[in-house]
Amino acid sequence: MSANQKHTSDMKMDAAGKPMPEITDATRAFWTAAKNRKLVVQKCTNCGTLNFFPKPWCIECGHRGLEWVEVSGKGTIYSFTTANKVMMNFPGWSADLPVTLGIIDLDEGARMYGQLVDAKPEHWKIGMKVVVTFADISEEAGIPKFRPA
Ligand SMILES: [Zn+2]
Repeated sequence: MSANQKHTSDMKMDAAGKPMPEITDATRAFWTAAKNRKLVVQKCTNCGTLNFFPKPWCIECGHRGLEWVEVSGKGTIYSFTTANKVMMNFPGWSADLPVTLGIIDLDEGARMYGQLVDAKPEHWKIGMKVVVTFADISEEAGIPKFRPA
C-alpha cells in the first residue's frame, strides 16, 4: 500500500467509493441544512462576519458566539480549477471526470468552495454568477454545489 492509499483506510466512503465528510458537532448543522436544500453558514454574534468553513470562533474578531444563518446561495466565482484525473487517489471520482472545483464569493460575504456542475469545464469564468444546488451524500447529509445562475 502506498502512502497515498493509506489515508483511505480510515475514512468513511460512500457507495461509489468517494470519501465522506467527517460530521462533527461543529459541522452537523451545515450538512443537515444541505440535506434540507438550505445553505447555512456561521455568523458572528459580535461583529456579524460570516464564517466558512465552520469553526469554534469568528475568523474576524475571535468571538466564540456564532449562530447558523441561511444565505441565498447566490455568488460569484472567485477562482476555479478543473481536475481531469482522479483526485486524492479515490477511484470513486472516476465516473465524474472532469470535475471542476470553484471558490465562490457568496453575495452575503463568505467565501466557500464547492463543485461547479451543470456546465462543461470550458464554460466557467472568473466573475461568473452562480447559484447553489444540492446533492445527497448520505441519509443525514447533503452537499452544496454550484451551477450557472
Ligand atoms: Zn466577529
